[in-house]
Amino acid sequence: MDGLSPRGGWIEVITGGMFSGKSEELIRRVRRAEIARQRTQIFKPAIDNRFDSKRIISRDNRGVDAIVARDSADLRSRLEFGVRVVGVDEVQFFDENIVDVTMELADAGVRVIVAGLDQDYLRRPFGPMPALLAVAEYVSKMHAICVRCGSPAHYTQRIAGGDSQIEVGDGSYEARCRMCYEPYRAPSDSHLDRIKTA
Ligand SMILES: [Zn+2]
Repeated sequence: MDGLSPRGGWIEVITGGMFSGKSEELIRRVRRAEIARQRTQIFKPAIDNRFDSKRIISRDNRGVDAIVARDSADLRSRLEFGVRVVGVDEVQFFDENIVDVTMELADAGVRVIVAGLDQDYLRRPFGPMPALLAVAEYVSKMHAICVRCGSPAHYTQRIAGGDSQIEVGDGSYEARCRMCYEPYRAPSDSHLDRIKTA
């Protein structure tokens, strides 16, 4: 969605699996608003500390400055007067109240662009994403390319690490299509013990 609505605010969701270009798309949209001299702010959750903690850096190494917010209340308290466009990256890591904050902003005339994972590594809807997808005016589902077969990839396959929902780090994941996706099982201690004693 390219921001052609004539008046008022609205919500755009950019979603999909990892490696699908969500951050690049968020940066592209915010940059276009900046070129039009609209006042913008970009936020990211405190949990995402890969690369540089204060910048959102897409995989093509283009970055924009972001404000790190602890939670949705912290984000709300850091909004500047007169802001026209608010971007939020990795929005799936925010608490459920982020939905109310985005609605409040859009109702007040702000264009809100959020980017985040629609599903976790077990294909479960991620955090506040289902509600954000429901209330958004515009939704863009992005696809990566399956590393196994080259089809459009809808899933984030975990390939290393434990079994918690959040495991930050690109090396623990790859993009997979529906045919190539396999439910991940973390190596358990008992299994490792059996290997050691075998
Ligand atoms: Zn595949």
